[in-house]
Amino acid sequence: MLKYTYPIMETFYSIQGEGYYQGHAAFFIRLAGCDVGCVWCDVKESWDANKHSSKTVSELVHEVKLSGAKMVIITGGEPLMYDCTPLTTALKAANLQVNIETSGSYPITGLWDWVCISPKKFKTPLPEVLAMANELKVVVFNKSDFEWAEQNARQVSKTCKLFLQPEWSKENKIFPLINEYILTHSQWILSLQIHKYIGVR
Ligand code: SF4
Repeated sequence: MLKYTYPIMETFYSIQGEGYYQGHAAFFIRLAGCDVGCVWCDVKESWDANKHSSKTVSELVHEVKLSGAKMVIITGGEPLMYDCTPLTTALKAANLQVNIETSGSYPITGLWDWVCISPKKFKTPLPEVLAMANELKVVVFNKSDFEWAEQNARQVSKTCKLFLQPEWSKENKIFPLINEYILTHSQWILSLQIHKYIGVR
């Protein structure tokens, strides 16, 4: 299990900029490989897994321990393209909180303390993955995304936290629409990518 490998675009210890754990220290493991194809994707260099080298579970756990992190966020790319069981089992065995950020478009594998689904129209999330979400984070690119957000919100549990997040390049134009929507649909919470404001990854 410890020799199992994953294609890795990057690993880093930083501050979670978005959603429920915004502001919390976390070690990020960004798996390479994604076939979802979001037009506004800000990590397009993650798409081709062949352009990135692999690391073993053992190496990844060692990096996390060296950082001193208590929480690990596994993101991508699309992490559920891979069997996350070996990696998450080892991280849990090291007493770490293990979170995932996924589009939800593949069946879920792994042991998770927190499942954040950011659904994408380009490859829609599976209902069984949405049902497991602790957090639904919908990127708002244009007005039609509010209906998209509601479609997904109808499929999550009652305890799932709901976030609307302006797409970074459209942020200023979309703010008034998001503000108005949240004022009239107060189950939704605003998520801003604060790591981009404070200049960290
Ligand atoms: Fe980019 Fe994430 Fe969309 Fe994949 S799912 S294309 S990594 S934003």
